[in-house]
Amino acid sequence: MSSTAPLTSPDCLFCKIVAGEVPAEVVTSTDTVVAFRDIAPQAPVHVLVAPRDHHADVAQLAAADPALLADVVRTANEVAESMADGQFRLIFNTGTHAGQSVFHVHGHVIAGASLGWTPA
Ligand code: C5P
Repeated sequence: MSSTAPLTSPDCLFCKIVAGEVPAEVVTSTDTVVAFRDIAPQAPVHVLVAPRDHHADVAQLAAADPALLADVVRTANEVAESMADGQFRLIFNTGTHAGQSVFHVHGHVIAGASLGWTPA
């Protein structure tokens, strides 16, 4: 993230959430990322970690700003340690066929239960 205003995209829902313009239940935030509860939780702990800067998906984030991707992963781990037992699944749906519906990269932190493995 630059030291000036974050990268944003017009009409992006998660840009509005990280800016505080659309309400969300924020669990933690840093200068570079915001973590908030998913409105349709799929596990006891289901938190989304989004960078403040707009990147469409995790591949684009990795290419443009790998340090920011590391911030996302670090915060995901901190969320799992504070809200669960430190064990978690981190999912980046990438593309519509993979289930991505919001094209501002976010990691789903899924935790708080013994998880099965049914990715498809
Ligand atoms: O990976 P995908 O792009 O489908 O994830 C988007 C997630 O954002 C969904 O799990 C949805 O429940 C969540 N969401 C949210 N708050 C909103 C809109 C969507 O937590 N206002």
